[in-house]
Amino acid sequence: MKKNKPFARKRFGQNFLICDYVIDEILHAAHLKPADHIIEIGPGRGALTQAILKSDISLTAIEIDRDLTSDLKIRFLGLVHFNLVEGDILKMDWSEIMEVHRSYKLIANLPYNISTPLFFKIISSRQQFSSITIMVQKEVAIRLMHNGSGKNLKNYGILSVIADTLFEINLICDVPATCFNPAPKVASAVIQLIPKKITIPEETAFFTLVKKMFNHRRKLLLSSLRKNQPEILKKLSLSTMKKLENIRPENLSPTDLLEIHLESLNIQS
Ligand code: SAM
Repeated sequence: MKKNKPFARKRFGQNFLICDYVIDEILHAAHLKPADHIIEIGPGRGALTQAILKSDISLTAIEIDRDLTSDLKIRFLGLVHFNLVEGDILKMDWSEIMEVHRSYKLIANLPYNISTPLFFKIISSRQQFSSITIMVQKEVAIRLMHNGSGKNLKNYGILSVIADTLFEINLICDVPATCFNPAPKVASAVIQLIPKKITIPEETAFFTLVKKMFNHRRKLLLSSLRKNQPEILKKLSLSTMKKLENIRPENLSPTDLLEIHLESLNIQS
């Protein structure tokens, strides 16, 4: 008896890509070359996987859903340049998937329900990726691409600051819900992130600082620091404190926030 195609599992954020032009846009943006090594998170039914493998490029795919991996094994496992890892990307260490000194391109139609923790996981190993081309909810794309200037500050937050500090980001294309099966309730977008060659001292402390500040984004920064991060306030010079008078976290650019972090570490920017 013919096995039915596995149905879409909501809990794994399964919305399968069905528009060929979007696959073309993603592959074109990634500038695939024969020597590339691709990491694909969530190959699903293999729409992107198949297109990448057609060009004989090495691909490691990580998929959580065993029903889907059994199908993918049957379809692609004869190919020597295809490696399928079964499991939850959030519980894996990158060293289980990638070789230390090799550079990779990450391509994925990300499961939307885990896009934020996945973003933080990706940034922990960002220098190993020469490019990161991902499909995310349009709303997340807008937040990731907001650099703090202009309008709609409600979209400017922790993700924006961290993304702007660490990556060059470009919008590749908008993707309507009709390009997926099942169609999600929201629109999507493909964006590309290229890691900047930047090292942030005490990077985790910078993320914490930004997170704590944006937890009180509408409060005046100095009074919020006084209450929530007095240890930072103590390290700031009088001239910086003067500049921050009557300022709210959402009025600071990513560069301003990084400067505050560096000053709190006694480092001149
Ligand atoms: N790449 C396929 C496509 O474009 O049609 C599927 C994309 S679908 C939005 C997300 C895929 O990620 C699904 O196949 C889902 O099972 C898989 N997935 C969800 N959570 C995952 C996780 N934690 N680790 C690995 N794969 C995951």
